[in-house]
Amino acid sequence: MTNTNNIVNSKSILKDNFGRDHAYLRISLIERCNLRCSYCMPAEGVKLSPKSHLMTSDEIYNIAKTFVKHGVKKIRLTGGEPLIRKDIPVILEKLATLNVTLSITSNAVIIDKHIAILKQNNVNKINISLDSLDRKKFKEITLRDQFDKVYSNLLLLVEEDFEVKVNVVLMKGFNDNEIINFINLTKDLPISIRFIEFMPFDGNKWDKNKMVSYKEIMACVNSTYKTNEVIRLTDAKNDTTKNYKIKGYKGSFGVISSVTNPFCDSCNRLRLTANGKIKNCLFSASESDLLTTLREGKSIEPVIKKAVEAKFKVRGGMDTLEKLQEPKLHNQNRSMITIGG
Ligand code: SF4
Repeated sequence: MTNTNNIVNSKSILKDNFGRDHAYLRISLIERCNLRCSYCMPAEGVKLSPKSHLMTSDEIYNIAKTFVKHGVKKIRLTGGEPLIRKDIPVILEKLATLNVTLSITSNAVIIDKHIAILKQNNVNKINISLDSLDRKKFKEITLRDQFDKVYSNLLLLVEEDFEVKVNVVLMKGFNDNEIINFINLTKDLPISIRFIEFMPFDGNKWDKNKMVSYKEIMACVNSTYKTNEVIRLTDAKNDTTKNYKIKGYKGSFGVISSVTNPFCDSCNRLRLTANGKIKNCLFSASESDLLTTLREGKSIEPVIKKAVEAKFKVRGGMDTLEKLQEPKLHNQNRSMITIGG
């Protein structure tokens, strides 16, 4: 067993070689989902990990507790779809005992059934994925006819005073003509719409020409609203989003521009996959096995430290657009469904 005192007294195990402190852990609870979004789930599906290779609720809690001990302040639960995990109430109750802000990212199809358990465990920040306000297009991209359910659950979350952000992955020729419709939702709804530049992951047939860039999104906004109506908001520290609001609107909108305008300088995020691997970056192909180490009764701290120290400055080493466009590079990574965004 390594002497944890040495680790505790030296540089934080969550600080990388670029001085970035990683106080935000995203935990993927499950590799399965009740939707089939084409930019996330490869058309041919994904090879699921055997159940015995997935973290139990106790293992999730123990690993999370170690991260919190070293400085994690925020934990976001993701998937696949985290709410389809049967023991989600147990996981929430356990994690709620830690000194962190708990939040969740969901496709909102069944979130109406979990309002009480989310509130009981102080999960107030909810990000939902909704890529179209058109029922037909929703079905086209998710392969499920669940638009009405998701939209009514969005309204329910607002009614229940949750802090709601809506993630919209924009793709040319599919939903880029809905940018203004989404922004106009924020006229009366106190929600935050986040337009996400389409990113390359294993199996999502990424093509840069399908991506709608930050520049193109803002060109659309500025050609629709008067200049003095579009207000640039101050982004929070470590924010992934460039935030704006339309004057007089209750909500806001923003752009997550990982492809054309990465924000890696202020990155504070680490990821834990459902099968217990730590990923030091969304785009990193490398990952380290915490779960096996834990099951062998060894300390996971040295593994975390090594993974954080191995972190690249930008996008898992794909620091140029040319590298990011290189399938040989970006296909080494997992598919989005087994990372959890
Ligand atoms: S691409 Fe990687 S380093 Fe950059 S912000 Fe995302 S997770 Fe952080």
